[in-house]
Amino acid sequence: MLKRIYQPAAYQTDTLPDSYWAESAAPLPDCERLPGDGTLKTDIAIIGGGYCGLSAALELAENGANVSVFDAGRSGWGASGRNGGFCCIGGSGKSYFDLAKKFGTDAVKQFARIECEAIDLVDRRLADWNIDVDRHSDGEVVLAHKPSRIAELHHEAKEYAHFTNIQTEFLDRDALVERGLNAGETYAGLHVKAGFGINPMKYLAGLHEQCIRTGVRIFEQAKIDRFDETAGKYTLYAGATQIEANKIIIATNGYSAENLPDWIGGRLMPVFSGILVTRPMGDDELKEQGWTSDLMAYDSRILLHYFRKLPDNRFLFGGRGGITATPAAFDAGKRDLLANFNRMFPAWRNVDLTHHWNGLACLSQSWRPYIGRVPGHHDVWTALAWHGNGVALASQGGKLLAQRMLGTIGDDDLGTVLGTPMDKFPLPGLRRVARSLAYRYYGLRDRFA
Ligand SMILES: Cc1cc2nc3c(=O)[nH]c(=O)nc-3n(C[C@H](O)[C@H](O)[C@H](O)COP(=O)(O)OP(=O)(O)OC[C@H]3O[C@@H](n4cnc5c(N)ncnc54)[C@H](O)[C@@H]3O)c2cc1C
Repeated sequence: MLKRIYQPAAYQTDTLPDSYWAESAAPLPDCERLPGDGTLKTDIAIIGGGYCGLSAALELAENGANVSVFDAGRSGWGASGRNGGFCCIGGSGKSYFDLAKKFGTDAVKQFARIECEAIDLVDRRLADWNIDVDRHSDGEVVLAHKPSRIAELHHEAKEYAHFTNIQTEFLDRDALVERGLNAGETYAGLHVKAGFGINPMKYLAGLHEQCIRTGVRIFEQAKIDRFDETAGKYTLYAGATQIEANKIIIATNGYSAENLPDWIGGRLMPVFSGILVTRPMGDDELKEQGWTSDLMAYDSRILLHYFRKLPDNRFLFGGRGGITATPAAFDAGKRDLLANFNRMFPAWRNVDLTHHWNGLACLSQSWRPYIGRVPGHHDVWTALAWHGNGVALASQGGKLLAQRMLGTIGDDDLGTVLGTPMDKFPLPGLRRVARSLAYRYYGLRDRFA
């Protein structure tokens, strides 16, 4: 029996969430179903059909491996099919300077290089596969939500200059207004010239299609309940089906169970993020608010909001969800998001919303992802904990994991930031309570500090 951190409602894989992406992207073709009472054989079994699992599968299959992907829902059922579509820098909950205190400057530069290569990977895939994902936005802008946070933007610009080749541009309040980036509670911005926005489901569909073309078998409604190991071989159990495999990849990120495998237990903090989308607006409505830019944006709150105008002039607004998966908590999350949206974009307070959904992103105890072998298992591997920034990094992470398993790269190529297993949370059973308290504290700091 899988042990989960949230209530069952968070893991209902028989339907897709009511997201704008599910409506605006063509449905994925049906995939294979498990045979029921029978046995399947595969060289590599991948649990999880998001960007990470599918990217690993593609790389492995392109190099001749026999690969099968198993998803409890279907490809993209998890965060990969329901995120904000920011293909951007990110992946750690710590700043580069903070990470450098533990890992050193060179290791952090290597991590930052991998983050940039992750964006390039998605960019190259879209071009090579010739898929239209409604791409827009030249980089992203971070907005100071209080005058006291303007100094942080300058600090961030220094970080980018020190650890990366990414160009940044400081924008004062007048420059923001001039560029069509006028929002309430916004005092300055830093344009970070890396990344772009996409329809995440369209990208996912392209990745899924490439996997099928390359010979990856993808099974849907295929929840793996457990696995065991005998004489160096693995048997995975999914209902009445048994799957024999030589290697396993765990690519379950925010939807991970605490006991698949046991090592994961207590090391991850899955967190809800929620998204609202409006109906398409007219040019006059956009001008009324003063937000006409295509740039994707987020604010300087610890409990940040992320937002962007979509190519058809809808507006997407996302932010922290609750820490409970009940219908009441889902509704409360919507009310909370809407209140913040109305404060920041008062001219649109009467614009109809067409969609609201949420999903699980994933933090780790160590505030960074991990890519590598699952400790205690000789051929079980994992890549997860993208800290809410997996569009690019989970894609690259899955690919790097596959290369590491194939032996085409070594541990040095992953570096210590990504290649050091995360620790366990102290008192892991209290993670949700601790998170709830942290949210209250962060909320106060965002308001008053
Ligand atoms: C609302 C929201 C907004 C976000 N916005 C952004 C953004 O704008 N930019 C960005 O970079 N990142 C964003 N993220 C984060 C990003 O979407 C994730 O980091 C990324 O999609 C993770 O990919 P993944 O493949 O590792 O995991 P997922 O896509 O979550 O896939 C995990 C899969 O594992 C499957 N699974 C779990 N357990 C089992 C099992 N036992 N058996 C079989 N299958 C199983 C699940 O069904 C799921 O499909 C957002 C996340 C959310 C929730």
